Amino acid sequence: MSERSGPDPGTAGSGPEAPQPGPEAAPAGGEIRIGHFVDGERVDGTSGRCGDVFDPAIGRRTGRVALACAADVAVAVAAAERAARSWRDASLARRTAVLFAFRELVHARRDRLAEVITAEHGKVLADAAGEVQRGLEVIEYACGVASALRGSFSENVSTEVDSYSLRQPLGVVAVISPFNFPVMVPLWFVPVAVACGNAVVLKPSEKDPSAALLLAQWFAEAGLPAGVFNVVNGDAEAVDALLDHPGVKAVSFVGSTPVARYVHQRGTLAGKRVQALGGAKNHLVVLPDADLDLAADAAVNAGFGSAGERCMAISALVAVEPIGDALVARIAERMARLRTGDGRRGGDLGPLVTAVHAERVRGYVEAGVAAGAVPVVDGRDVVPDGEPGGFWLGPTLFDHVTPNMSIYTDEIFGPVLGVVRVGSYDEAVELVNANPYGNGTAIFTNDGGAARRFQHEVEVGMVGINVPIPVPMAYYSFGGWKASLFGDLHAHGEDGVRFYTRGKVVTSRWLDPRHGGLNLGFPTQT
Ligand code: NAD
Repeated sequence: MSERSGPDPGTAGSGPEAPQPGPEAAPAGGEIRIGHFVDGERVDGTSGRCGDVFDPAIGRRTGRVALACAADVAVAVAAAERAARSWRDASLARRTAVLFAFRELVHARRDRLAEVITAEHGKVLADAAGEVQRGLEVIEYACGVASALRGSFSENVSTEVDSYSLRQPLGVVAVISPFNFPVMVPLWFVPVAVACGNAVVLKPSEKDPSAALLLAQWFAEAGLPAGVFNVVNGDAEAVDALLDHPGVKAVSFVGSTPVARYVHQRGTLAGKRVQALGGAKNHLVVLPDADLDLAADAAVNAGFGSAGERCMAISALVAVEPIGDALVARIAERMARLRTGDGRRGGDLGPLVTAVHAERVRGYVEAGVAAGAVPVVDGRDVVPDGEPGGFWLGPTLFDHVTPNMSIYTDEIFGPVLGVVRVGSYDEAVELVNANPYGNGTAIFTNDGGAARRFQHEVEVGMVGINVPIPVPMAYYSFGGWKASLFGDLHAHGEDGVRFYTRGKVVTSRWLDPRHGGLNLGFPTQT
């Protein structure tokens, strides 16, 4: 990993508003080379393997990303181990100052970050800006981590003996992130881990790797010592190397359920602390007394925003009869006004992330039709506001979906919303609770008692009441239940601080002229 990769970051000393290099630094129609960021500099790595990065709205390859091998990962972990030794002793005041400076840089350059997200992920610019905003909120939370790290102190637990608790960093932690939030998901973890005194190796998704490199560069500019935050690009090979490396003490993973389960098993087997957030199938339950216009707005926003590529997207709408017809009509009317297109042109939803994924989602639409669901709006007919080569699929609405259809059982991760009609509240809750996933859910109703019962009974980690995408604020913790999370602690908030630290309790007695004498019995209070 000795060779530096281009283009050179070249931002040292530039103001927060200065233009930042990135994907568009490539010549028009050309391709950029995307490497790693290790020990404070961009490097190419030694694996010789590369992956393709696309602009999904054009369908053209815009970059080649280096895919790290185990040796590349070892170099990054070694740099992080060196850095962790001194970073754990940096004062809370210093760590906080670095995080504040980083927050200012990300805030000043948020438009730049949104452009990079849109260029590689495809989501529309406004949505990308929203993602950056949610990430900024976690940085802001991490700026105040000092209060979350406070221990407790008990005087005289025994005669002239005091006891107190501390939380200390783990050392090197790994973060492995999915394609759908290339900024927000890394920022769920990295600022909290760093604020707690750890060093981090981030392995972003190989589908949209550029934003993570900008974050690393801006962290360095904010004064973070070299090696405290490293980015290693790659695929399963890099993930396995991180899971097996004895220097990595903990792993925060976000991605699909099969990989989350695997990461949790392999990581814990290697003795690491692991939190692995998986996939989802989120239900929105609409009771007959709900405001149907509000519910229809929510279903469209949560079903088709980011082309359905959100772990908190609503993909199953549970209509409690007799409102099915009225609700479906309202949703279809709103969908007619949606514009699918290049995220830089101000539309509502962009393309899917890759051609392969677009084909997979299209396959689900075909399977839904074949299984007998009623396609009220068929996204295969969309006329996009974008290049014909883009990975397009328009918003699709199915009515009369039944729980045995693959469009209901599987996480589709595309702009496909299925309406399941049920006869009662009880049937609705039973359906949600029978689902193997438990990430997010929402209920729309004007009945406070029903909402209260739902929040109590539903077996899902994040619940919205007349709120369709109930993503907790940074000072609460984000995480699902069942097959949506493997491990115990959720992301950011108090759980994040607990995950990245371990507790220690000290029992102390300071010199007193009296001595207790010999006593080989188990210590008890006197
Ligand atoms: P993914 O599981 O394909 O990839 C996630 C990460 O794992 C990537 O960094 C990837 O390189 C790596 N990876 C992929 N296959 C691997 C393998 N076989 N072995 C080891 N590592 C592997 O997920 P994705 O397609 O990038 O993201 C979409 C998924 O993430 C959806 O299922 C979505 O629900 C989920 N997600 C969940 C949350 C949450 O909070 N629960 C948030 C965002 C996304």
